[in-house]
Amino acid sequence: MKPAAVLTDLDGTLLEHGGVIGEAVRVVIADLGEQGIPVVPLTSKTEVELRGVLAELGAGGIGSFENGAGVVGPGGVVVSEKAVPVAELSARLLELARLTGFRLTPATELPAAEIFRITGLSRERIPAMLARGFGLPFLAPEGAAEALERFAGRLPGTRLTRGGQFWHLSGDHGKENAVDLLLRAVLVSRPLAGLGDAPNDAGFLSLCDVAVLVPRASGEIDPVLRAAVPAGRLAPFPAGRGWAAAVAELLGEETT
Ligand SMILES: [Mg+2]
Repeated sequence: MKPAAVLTDLDGTLLEHGGVIGEAVRVVIADLGEQGIPVVPLTSKTEVELRGVLAELGAGGIGSFENGAGVVGPGGVVVSEKAVPVAELSARLLELARLTGFRLTPATELPAAEIFRITGLSRERIPAMLARGFGLPFLAPEGAAEALERFAGRLPGTRLTRGGQFWHLSGDHGKENAVDLLLRAVLVSRPLAGLGDAPNDAGFLSLCDVAVLVPRASGEIDPVLRAAVPAGRLAPFPAGRGWAAAVAELLGEETT
């Protein structure tokens, strides 16, 4: 199948560990470029971080930031109607702290050394990571999980997710919302290929015409992702190497 666009997660999918773009990925992206097929990242990264990756990829300049909060394209930014500005999310976090009785600390109030300890991000990259327009990463004490999940349900239009160490408060949107935004803004058209490695990619992969599941570093496909996208093909290797092999295979298939 020759896709009209390749939608892709970044961390653990197109990017190698440490955020590096591997050589095999560069070769395939150049091939896609020659065929006029854009590579469209759908990421939890901020708009600032996404723009950095887009510039480095040089593969169409289209992408979605902050888990479907909005898309960037040649005409500018389109924000999802489900996205909630961070000032409003701060108010909701205060309300959540009041309801649960736990102290909830936004990442923006943590010292840089603490963020480094948690994320491993270099000092130069921390400001771009914190420049969130539509999401609020925060820390909660051990034991707060049950109360957080219970009371977050009382905040309409709000989504609470749990990452490695940070919790995350946002509007009720995910990467799946980006697909509709991209199609409506005529930034992409079908057929769409999609690649991802984690459960938060399942929604958008299910909306693609062909989905490719990329294994973790261990070689295992995430079991939650696999169950959610049963029709997904499996990339032969983890991260960028698997991404490149799977996309090259797609491009090489006969169209009938
Ligand atoms: Mg990922």
